[in-house]
Amino acid sequence: MLVSLGVLLQAAAVSTALVAPRAVTVRAPDHTATVPVVAIAGRPAVDGARLAAALGGTFRPAGRGRFLLTLGEWAVRFTDGLPFATVDDTSAIPMTDAPRTEGPVMYLPFQVVSEIIPRFLSGFFYDPGAAEVRVFNPAARRIPPVDATPPPAADTGAAVLATAPVNAIALPRHRDGRHLVVVDAGHGGPDNGMTGPIGTSPPTLVEKNITLAVAKLVAADLRAAGTDVLMTRTTDTLIALSDRGRIANRHHGDVFVSIHVNATGQRGPTAARERGFETYFLAEAKTEDARRVERMENESVKFETGVNAPKGDALGFIINDMAQNEHLRESEKLAQMIQDGLRGVEPGPDRGVQQANFAVLRGSYMPAVLVEIGFGTNPAEAAYLRQRGDQRSIAASITRSVLAYLDQYDARVGAGR
Ligand SMILES: [Zn+2]
Repeated sequence: MLVSLGVLLQAAAVSTALVAPRAVTVRAPDHTATVPVVAIAGRPAVDGARLAAALGGTFRPAGRGRFLLTLGEWAVRFTDGLPFATVDDTSAIPMTDAPRTEGPVMYLPFQVVSEIIPRFLSGFFYDPGAAEVRVFNPAARRIPPVDATPPPAADTGAAVLATAPVNAIALPRHRDGRHLVVVDAGHGGPDNGMTGPIGTSPPTLVEKNITLAVAKLVAADLRAAGTDVLMTRTTDTLIALSDRGRIANRHHGDVFVSIHVNATGQRGPTAARERGFETYFLAEAKTEDARRVERMENESVKFETGVNAPKGDALGFIINDMAQNEHLRESEKLAQMIQDGLRGVEPGPDRGVQQANFAVLRGSYMPAVLVEIGFGTNPAEAAYLRQRGDQRSIAASITRSVLAYLDQYDARVGAGR
């Protein structure tokens, strides 16, 4: 991972230089503004104050060569001469160039416009073809704090996909001493996930419906056991993969569980036979099969930002991967407990605990796992996954494992964390 960091940063630097336009247009629901792109030490940059004003935010000195960019509820800190941006005081994001201060003006690398803001803050999209930043309704992109009243539903028309997360959040009650489990139903809205089983037309199983049904059951079981729960979605809506982890972080979840249905990667007459359950935690994919599931689940990204979706996520991946590292062992432990639990419930086979690099797990700074509860491409397993009673058994098993994990965690670190 570290070996490739320099190479990736160089590659990003080159691509940024190539695509930097002379000016960017900021298009917000209520205004349009233009920010010139200037050359600072031969590299494309923008005046931080002009960018902030165009985006509807503020940019002010914060002492000792530092500036604070505030956009809605987001705060991003920049330091003169340091090629890092700090978002919400949690993650230091490396940049290809350092911000430069000239008199009262701080110039930010163009990459802040093209990558940092769209990737690490929600509600912004950069279209390199049009040299345009699109700003979605700020009221809609605000993720409400715990115990706050949700904001009124915003009607922003075309921007609904990117703003969907907020209205879908069921607010948790994260009372002192109680754990908060974030339950993520895979896919949703225009992203169906997989459909199956093989040989059935029209399909009788749609992944997004099964994941939501099981996720709701897990949430109900956990709540019944006295645990607080946050669901990333409770209806048939699309939540951006990166937002799912972000939602979990903002609410200080203790554990993140994402629920999915698998699809075979095989072709030919034996493809429909593949079946079983497996649990993933975030790491580099170890096997070709894990890479296949990783590709499949990460496909959801294409529904989030349309045809102009930026390809690749090298920088974001590296950073989040490093932050996630401290939770890797915990994630693996949780994955193993969930997998062990399902062994007593599911008909099988047990495909074991796997590692893969899932976008949905990347941004969550807590033990995080993704459970593939079965193969929707297999006719028998698809029928099993659709059965309400079997969904209940699967959910109860996942719940028991999560509770057992939290108990163990408390015992190890001391209760009342
Ligand atoms: Zn899935």
